[in-house]
Amino acid sequence: MEKQNKDLNRRQFLKSSAIAVSALAAVGAGVGYLQKVTAETRINRNFLRPPGAIDEDTFIYGCIKCGLCVQICPIQAIKLAGIKEGLAYGTPYINVREQACDFSCDSLQCVETCPTAVLYFKQFKDAGEKAVEEYVKTHKTDENFNPFPVQIKAMKSIVKMGIAKLNPETCLAYQGKGFKGTPRGKDFKGVNRSPYTNDAKATPVAEKYYDEKICDICVKECPIGDTAIVMTDIGGKTVPKVLDGCTGCGVCVMVCPTEGPSIIVEPIKS
Ligand code: SF4
Ligand code: SF4
Ligand code: SF4
Repeated sequence: MEKQNKDLNRRQFLKSSAIAVSALAAVGAGVGYLQKVTAETRINRNFLRPPGAIDEDTFIYGCIKCGLCVQICPIQAIKLAGIKEGLAYGTPYINVREQACDFSCDSLQCVETCPTAVLYFKQFKDAGEKAVEEYVKTHKTDENFNPFPVQIKAMKSIVKMGIAKLNPETCLAYQGKGFKGTPRGKDFKGVNRSPYTNDAKATPVAEKYYDEKICDICVKECPIGDTAIVMTDIGGKTVPKVLDGCTGCGVCVMVCPTEGPSIIVEPIKS
């Protein structure tokens, strides 16, 4: 009987030890996973955040993942990061190749609606108001003056999501080539409000048709215009050149007709 009890105690001890070891291993694996996820998230600065995003480390912790910016965007440019993104899970980002921000909302609505100010609106509000003040001082205005176009132009001009970068190896203009057709094919789902055809609202890229002797679609469709990107002569070729006024909105990336885009947006790594 005494031997039986001893065996039982020994078995229970071994069983408890095994459970404890497994539990410790599980905790260790969990901590390891969290460390890995944290480390990966810390170095993953490739998300292109919506306009007005504060620095990435603070953004990840400050965003409450409410999705209001997603809901308000009229062209569904903003998506929420999936669970594989670790700490960035649920935070908003823009995949500009699929749907760029073309400023269709006209007033940076995603930024204005953000309840935590990780998309920080005051800078845009101040810039808009200052531009209107300057305009009124330097132009003759009457009671019919609509300040909105001046205001939104100034607000858009200080957006800095990233900066566009060209790949001369694949850009059609750099090869002296044109483009005829629909840049992303008939099944492409993205939309944009074209400054070049003066669209009143965003329309499907799949319905747009170009016939360019030298490809300049990125330049034509840029919602910021000639402070952001221009066609210029370099080494006897007419090619696009990105300027400091580029906001990183990514419309140029979305409409570029080459299979891998010949222009990309590098996110601001602040
Ligand atoms: S600024 Fe761009 S991303 Fe934000 S709501 Fe407007 S169109 Fe959408
Ligand atoms: S749209 Fe693409 S291929 Fe055409 S000029 Fe711009 S970067 Fe080059
Ligand atoms: S060049 Fe124009 S379209 Fe391209 S990211 Fe810059 S502002 Fe946007």
